[in-house]
Amino acid sequence: MSKRVTNPTVRTAAVALVVTGLGASLVAGAGSAFAAESKAAPVAVTAAAAVKVQAQTQAAQAAKAQAAVKAQAAKTAQVKAAAKKAVAKPAAVKKATGWVKPVSSYALSASYNQGGAMWAHKHSGQDFAVPVGTSVRAAAAGTVVKAGPYGGGDGPAYGNAIVVKHANGRYSQYAHLSKIKVRIGQKVAAGQQIALSGNTGNSSGPHLHFEIRTTPNYGSALNPAAFLRAHGVFI
Ligand SMILES: [Zn+2]
Repeated sequence: MSKRVTNPTVRTAAVALVVTGLGASLVAGAGSAFAAESKAAPVAVTAAAAVKVQAQTQAAQAAKAQAAVKAQAAKTAQVKAAAKKAVAKPAAVKKATGWVKPVSSYALSASYNQGGAMWAHKHSGQDFAVPVGTSVRAAAAGTVVKAGPYGGGDGPAYGNAIVVKHANGRYSQYAHLSKIKVRIGQKVAAGQQIALSGNTGNSSGPHLHFEIRTTPNYGSALNPAAFLRAHGVFI
């Protein structure tokens, strides 16, 4: 502490020793800080005092740098979270329409209006080929209005079937089921399991026959694929 520095090159050497290993920006910062200190007390600065100031400056610079890194990391995390949110948004929008696929894993077989020997007229629904026992889900929230054998009253061709009434005045129908898990009057949620698929009635193989109707009854079917698409569900 008592040693007075008279030669500026000694001071510079001491500072250079301390700043060795720091980044260029820190050296510049430290240098200017030292210059300011020198100007304020050009004579009285000792090597020890210079080193102390230098150390303080370095600590401050290091803390500043660390804070900047932390802030950048927080910003990056924020951007990442925002990006994640943006990606998740379409799914949320899709869910908001309230309609889902009646089965999650399937192969599309006979489509709506398809002709063929299996049907008296044209095919009134969309067929999803699935193994017997596959979980069948309500395509939207609603109330069960038909559930039982003989198509729940629509005719033996449908086998075990369910019809659900929805808030928008439409009805969904599920046919050829092996097991019905709901009863008439029961409220169901979108995606809730209502039955297990099967091969009952006039069916050429294990599949779910799915209809969208304007009434609870046979003969009022719409194109189910187009209807679902209009509600954000692509089969
Ligand atoms: Zn069918």
